Amino acid sequence: MKTPIKLSQYGQHYSSDSGIVELMDDLGSALRDNPQMLMMAGGTPARIPAAEQLFQTTLQQLAADPASTQALLGRYQGPKGDLAVRELLATQLREDYGWDLTADNIALTNGGQSAFSIVANMLAGEGSNGSKRIHFPLVPEYLGYADVGISKNFFSSARPQLQLLDDGLFKYTLDRSAVIPQDAAALCISRPTNPSGNVLTDDEVRFLDGAARARGIPLIVDAAYGLPFPALQYGDDTSAYWSDNVILLLSLSKVGMPGTRSGFLVAAADLIEAKALKAVALLREALRDIPCHIHKPEGAFFLWLWLPSLPVRSEQLYRQLKHHGLLVIPGENSFIGLAEPWDHSHQCIRLSYAVDDAMLAQAAAVLGSTLKKL
Ligand code: PLP
Repeated sequence: MKTPIKLSQYGQHYSSDSGIVELMDDLGSALRDNPQMLMMAGGTPARIPAAEQLFQTTLQQLAADPASTQALLGRYQGPKGDLAVRELLATQLREDYGWDLTADNIALTNGGQSAFSIVANMLAGEGSNGSKRIHFPLVPEYLGYADVGISKNFFSSARPQLQLLDDGLFKYTLDRSAVIPQDAAALCISRPTNPSGNVLTDDEVRFLDGAARARGIPLIVDAAYGLPFPALQYGDDTSAYWSDNVILLLSLSKVGMPGTRSGFLVAAADLIEAKALKAVALLREALRDIPCHIHKPEGAFFLWLWLPSLPVRSEQLYRQLKHHGLLVIPGENSFIGLAEPWDHSHQCIRLSYAVDDAMLAQAAAVLGSTLKKL
């Protein structure tokens, strides 16, 4: 008989039956079970032929040059990554934003998710001065964070304020009166925020940076969707932010290279904004008679729907939609680290609109009819 493998605490953590692991499994099997599924759940960027062509040509040029191929495949890089790339990025950021950076300030990682995991575990968890946590000053936050903490009770968070806007839109704003717990090791925001598409204002980010600095802790800003690249930040009134108290996480995934988990390119924000507006219009039409607020889409490529009269939890809505061939993300798991229950956290779902128009229209119709039945 085979001896069962004995897992360490770390091993048990990553093999646990957590809701998120289950959801990810479920999402992963969904397409296999139903190839016609309307995939509005993923974080994969839409395919852009011109970008794909550019990647292909560049790869062909690299492959045609023996020295480049050797540099790409046949050499270990230092722990911070290739110096030339780090210098290039530092120069670019200095020129574009005036940030006081050199290659020494930059390290390459295997994408934003792993960067967060390294930084978060370097700062929080059990340490010589007790147990510390990563604090989200505003949830919902990126689902992918929830599982990175090696120790238990790794996160704390605060509710946002809900601002109702015209046209059935709403917006999360920072509750500046919310207390930052004593055991906070760092504050963390994604900007634009996954899942809501919120972009914290420059003033809110400055406030958080000041609050973090006053406590002697850093502010982690995950700009996987934002500035400087892929720049899926639609309004003109928010800018890139860095200070010497900020740990800025960048990713090339949403530029169109999620498979590499590295690299950089700048996307055309105005095109993506037009897609966001189309998605809002289609959903509005399909959900005409249903109480529904859509988070103002300020960045990324998600629509975050708040259904205040939803008679079931969003997790159940997710299952019903999946049954009807539409895959979305239920909102529950994004309210990471909240100390008190909050009805709102069961009333939201996330739809990715990085899909073609026909799928968008079908998805809106499925959502509308399912909600009406409910
Ligand atoms: N950060 C946020 C906020 C994200 O939404 C995502 C992906 O969905 C990532 C990081 C992941 O980035 P990467 O693919 O570079 O690991």
